[in-house]
Amino acid sequence: MSDILRLMSNKEQIRNLGIVAHVDHGKTTLADSLLAGAGLLSPTVAGSVRVLDYLREEQKRGITMKSANISMLHKTMGHPVLLNLVDTPGHIDFMGKVTRAFRAIDGAVVVVDAVEGIMIQTEILLRQALAERVCPVLFINKVDRLITELKLDSKQIEKRFKHIINDFNKILEIHGEFPFKHSWKADATSGSVVLGSALHRWGFTLSIMQQKGMKFREVMGAYKNSEYKNLHKVLPLHNAILEMVVKTTPSPLVAQKYRVPRIWKGDLNSEIGQAMVNCDDKGPAVMCITNVKKDPKTGTISTGRLFSGTINEGAKVHLLNAGKDFVSEGVFVYMGAFREPVIQVPAGNIAAIMGLELAKPGETLVTADQKEGMLPFEPIKYFSEPVITVAIEPSDPRKIPFLLKVMKQLELEDPNLRVTINRETGEYLLSGMGELHLETSLNTLRESSSDSEIFTSPPRVVFRESVSRKGIIATAKSPNLKNTFVLKVEPAVKSSTPSSEPVEIAGKTASAIASDENKNTLVDLTGNTESFRVAL
Ligand code: GDP
Repeated sequence: MSDILRLMSNKEQIRNLGIVAHVDHGKTTLADSLLAGAGLLSPTVAGSVRVLDYLREEQKRGITMKSANISMLHKTMGHPVLLNLVDTPGHIDFMGKVTRAFRAIDGAVVVVDAVEGIMIQTEILLRQALAERVCPVLFINKVDRLITELKLDSKQIEKRFKHIINDFNKILEIHGEFPFKHSWKADATSGSVVLGSALHRWGFTLSIMQQKGMKFREVMGAYKNSEYKNLHKVLPLHNAILEMVVKTTPSPLVAQKYRVPRIWKGDLNSEIGQAMVNCDDKGPAVMCITNVKKDPKTGTISTGRLFSGTINEGAKVHLLNAGKDFVSEGVFVYMGAFREPVIQVPAGNIAAIMGLELAKPGETLVTADQKEGMLPFEPIKYFSEPVITVAIEPSDPRKIPFLLKVMKQLELEDPNLRVTINRETGEYLLSGMGELHLETSLNTLRESSSDSEIFTSPPRVVFRESVSRKGIIATAKSPNLKNTFVLKVEPAVKSSTPSSEPVEIAGKTASAIASDENKNTLVDLTGNTESFRVAL
């Protein structure tokens, strides 16, 4: 712990890092492997305990829903490194939490299952990272499956690696800005790609293989001879990931120079602007709060990224959106499920503060005496809205005020939940991003009012997504890579003639494909078959 505290001031040796992935691609298994490498988890259980999934619901379902933080100390290439790791949820329902996590980190390990390749959610995550100027690096996981299940030879495996790296770089090319779209490209020869198996805890970069004088053939041989269990001793995964992260993702000192101008629109030449750009411990304290938790024992715990200054217990701070001053009642760093109190946290780190009663995710904190004229951080942009709603009713109507209080608290902690009261029907409505998101929130609600049953209506979809303009051409491959689907969406041209007349779609006017009011229409433009119509 004392080493962690010392390194918190040594900014070149800090990496604020996230692990992101399409659900089930192996993010949590990788996090366990990193924890084992830092000595925080017994290596014999790494891969099965899911330390960052500390919530009971997460352990039960085997998926990550909240984003957990942990600070850990590693040694790589002879130097100690402090990793402030944020493990993020993979399920699409919890995407809002990932979006908030991106504000706090500077680099993201994008985990991609070697069998499935880059999925649509991987693309969304990459786009969000780029939007926040977070540097993505690539971990191609589950390579063991290519050898043992798909039984590919080394040429086929190499082809698959190249394909995944290409897909990754194509997304960077399309959605990245200059110069990052070039400098952040995944390149196995420059060390920004790790290949491995999180389950069996081995992994390598090309330079590690070169240093050890090893060939991929030997890894394949280890599986053929059932000696793969020794691979983690020769090629420990945490070492490969750390080497990649330290070599290719930025420290806060480097990252804040280009991240601050993107997420804060104040004067960069002002005292505060300079302190943030330079990640200055001695400047005014400025934090972007990304997570808020109401703890029944300790009160409000706000977690975020400190961009400048130093924060300690007793510090007088101001919350810009809430418009109110507070006194910090304690500062903490994270060790998985545990918060460790510390004397102070310097700029460039992810930390938690107790006692900011009105804090919400996205809030800007500033030293109280610097609040005049301070601009808040840019709002965190979510990729989707709460789309699904249930009405809630307790068996005991006297419980309604209590239930509303808990619902409001959940809404405060999670900006992707919405609580409304329908004045006409008197219904209490809870809206979320998807059924899983709502279900887990309802479970928390039920746990807090165990003496009264809670009835819910069947879920209703409150928003309907619609096409407002012509979209880009999207392509996807079937799992056997033999079929390519090319899809383009565009709104149907509104016909000025009566609705029985044909509408124009994709440049074609055909009565055979005329759309019904409010229906989506799929038009086959391959020319091989007759155009057809499907109500989606
Ligand atoms: P997450 O949803 O991205 O956090 O994925 P998990 O870490 O929970 O992994 C999903 C599933 O894939 C689990 O059953 C893991 O045991 C399995 N898994 C993870 N990494 C590997 C790997 O390298 N090889 C194989 N064969 N399975 C893996």
